[in-house]
Parts: sequence; structure tokens; C-alpha cells
Amino acid sequence: MIKNKSLKIVVLTLLILIGSAFFRFASAFQIRAVLRSEIPEAEITPPADTNNNDNSSTSSTPSRVRTIIRSQIPEKEILPDADNSDKIFLFSDSGADDLFSWDSVFEKVKVVDFDSSILFSENNNSLSKKNTDTEAILPIDGIDYRITREKIEVRDADDFTWFGKVEGSPYLSHFAVVNNRVAGEIWLPNGEHRSLLPRSEQTFLVEWNDEEISRGLIDDQILISSFISTNEPGGRTGPRIQRRLSSLVCPKGEEMIWEKPILFLYDSTALDWAGGDKDALSALAQTHADSINNVNLNSLMENYRVKVAAVHEFEYTSSGNLVADLQVLIDSGENEGGEVRSLMQKIGAVEASLMIGATNGRYYGMASGNILQPPGGRYHAGVIAGGSSRAFVHEDGHNNGCGHQVGYIPDSAARPFAHGWIKDEAGMDVMAAWSQELCPTGRCWYIPLLSTPHVLVSGGEIGLTGTPAGVAGEAECASILPEAYTAFGVLPMCK
Ligand SMILES: [Zn+2]
Repeated sequence: MIKNKSLKIVVLTLLILIGSAFFRFASAFQIRAVLRSEIPEAEITPPADTNNNDNSSTSSTPSRVRTIIRSQIPEKEILPDADNSDKIFLFSDSGADDLFSWDSVFEKVKVVDFDSSILFSENNNSLSKKNTDTEAILPIDGIDYRITREKIEVRDADDFTWFGKVEGSPYLSHFAVVNNRVAGEIWLPNGEHRSLLPRSEQTFLVEWNDEEISRGLIDDQILISSFISTNEPGGRTGPRIQRRLSSLVCPKGEEMIWEKPILFLYDSTALDWAGGDKDALSALAQTHADSINNVNLNSLMENYRVKVAAVHEFEYTSSGNLVADLQVLIDSGENEGGEVRSLMQKIGAVEASLMIGATNGRYYGMASGNILQPPGGRYHAGVIAGGSSRAFVHEDGHNNGCGHQVGYIPDSAARPFAHGWIKDEAGMDVMAAWSQELCPTGRCWYIPLLSTPHVLVSGGEIGLTGTPAGVAGEAECASILPEAYTAFGVLPMCK
């Protein structure tokens, strides 16, 4: 059980990594709006080996080994005992298979108990103090992985996101806790990832069939034909967008960030999938948003973020057809008086995403809209379902204007450089669509990155260590974020 109701977390600490080697990019438009002196066209930033991120880690709170004494409790109670005091979750012997029918995309499903008190603990009875622990243990498949906190974002005592890296992995993992329900994505050193899914009062550790998901993503389509418009200024046949090195700074040294508010909707099938647990769906929405932020940070675009504007029930039951579902979402978003439009206006969201629980929609989605569409991408929509964040990140990439990998037909990149990246049966970024030619037999490892030649791929079993995760001038989806977020109407703020 999660026992942090009595905890109050007040201090928000951002541990900024990748500081020294990081250059912000911003579109010329943004620079005109906010800046000052002319800065030369961006030079190619030397690839920053993500392996070196740890070198610039500047935690102000030194790690220490926590010691928590708990009474001996039988393990079947799913409560931590003294021997497991640093472990974030313990496994139950409950048979998950008996509880739900899981789609084939879920390769392994285990019931776990998530102990958020490992991430937070009381500090000398001072509830106002956040604990200084920065490490915890993740027991997965018989191996104890050490995970070190990189930052924490607190929305409330029972509502926070904890970000950290598993030792040996260059990519961020995270746990989103919403009203004691937790969802998360965990990246292991060998390139594999696991999800934490809340469902009907229980939490499940899920190993995905990544290949199945990859095959599913190839089915997504862009419904709006203008997405591939070539006659827009800066379009595919136009001049490449002028990107400049940004030296935007906040007056008091805060971070200058662009944050895109997303309205998360769920229908009756999603609510059924979650066993009626609305908090579980809120936690899933949060982890979807966190997954985008993780990918942007991994891609050295950490100042471009999304946030959960609201999680709301949409009076709708999925038709079982994603095209139809998406059209309903678009209609409600674009029509005056529509439920989605009203909600978006009320909360200031610039994107809406619908979670459904239909089996055939669990691992892929569809996106509608792009940065070329007037009025600046106001009514973008993505359709996802309760499950992996992978499809959500992918579809949001489309909304930003990214297409699939170089050479993928039909081409859907909004800009010449904004293609995804896939490499010889070995690795694919978040925008790549599965390819029979490139992934004929084995798996193509999913890498939580937007394509960018400025980041080198790392990871033992991926086999691409030292390879840029993108091709200069062709596969640089990360570079479109400044333009996309501006088109969405997102204004920079110091935070
Ligand atoms: Zn796609």
C-alpha cells in the first residue's frame, strides 16, 4: 500500500543534467519575438554522448543509503519487509492472468505493490521537508537495478512525478503518482523497457511486445491531407527553416521553457479497461505527458515540454474504429459549442487526446493536424488508449510535424528535416514506423529519442553505441519543436 498521505512535499528541486553541453535551439520567429542581437545560423553542435550525462550531474543532495525498519510482515501481504526497504515495488503472487484478459502486446504482466515511500520519506517528523534520498532499487526479473533520481516535479503531496535513470541506462525513467495511483515507464540498461500500469486498484509491471507495437504503429495514418502540403512557406519544397542558436535567458536565471497544455479525454471503454478507476486513467495521462518530456530531454530539447491540462471523461464509447473515433474527437473540437472545444477553451489546452480501451487501439494511435494548418494547430488530436506511452509519444510527434523515418512512404514530414530515424534492424526512434525491409526478422530496438544527429545512441544490446540518432538535414525531428510549439501558440515562460 502507498502510505504517503501524511507526507507533504513542498520543495521542488530540479536537478538539471546535460547542462554544459547543451545548446538551445529556437526558431528565428521566437528570437525575433523575444530576443536581441543577431546570432549566426546554428552550427552543427558536436554530438553529445549521452553516456556522459552523468558527468555533469550536479545533485545538491548527496546520495545515501536509506535504512527503514519495518516489522516483519508475510510477503503475501504485499508489504515491504526489512530486507526490501529500498525497493520501490514488491511482487505479489496474485495471478494477473486471472484478473483481466491482456492483449498479446503485453508480453509479461505481474502484479506489483508500488511503495512511493521509498521515493519520499518523512524527515525527522518534519513533514514539510522532502527527503534527500536520491536512490532506490528496482527489482525486475530477479535483478536489482539501482535507479537514481534526477528530478522531481511535485503537484501535490499525492500528486508528483519522479524522474530518474536506471544505472547503466542513458534514458530517463519516471513514475507518475496521482492520488496514490501510479503509472510509469522504466528503461533498462539493455534497451528494454517496462511500464507500470494502474488498473482496477492494482498496479501491474508490464513487459511489452515491442515488435507487436512497432507493427501496430505502421498502421497509423494522417487524416488531414494538408499535412503533406508542399506549397506552404517553409514546406517540403521550400527553404529549410532557419534555426539559430538561442541564448534566451531568464532575468533571474530561471529556466525558459515552452510548455504545451494537453487535454486528456477518456471514453467509456477506457474507463472499463481501468476497472472504473478514474485516478488510474489520470496517472496514465500523466505518464504519457512525462514520456514526451523524457523523450525531449533525451533529445537535448528539455525546454520544450507538455503538461496535463486536465483529464476528463468524454461522453463517448469507442466505435472500435480509430478513424471514426478520431473524427468524433475532431468534430467535437472544431465545432462551436462542441464538448471538446469548450473544454479546450476553458482550460487553455492546445491539443486533445482521447484514451480508449478497445483492444485494437491499445498499441497504436492516429494523429490529426500539423503545424502548417491554420490556425496554428489549434485543434490537434491524437487517439491513444490505456497502455503504453509509446503510441502517444509517436502521435504527438506527428502533431508537431514529424514524419516517419527517411524513405518511408507515404511521407508525412512537415519539414524536409523532420523525418524519423531507423537503423538497420537495430534501433528506431519514436517516430519510426516498423519496416519489413529494415526489421525483417529480429526486433528493432525502440529508443526513446526524437531523431537528432546531436545525440549518440547508447545501450549495450542495441548495437548502435556511438551512432547519431538521426541524419543531419533529414532526420532531425527534435529540431522542429521550437517551430511547432510556437505554432501551437505556446509562449515561453521563465520557470
Ligand atoms: Zn506514425
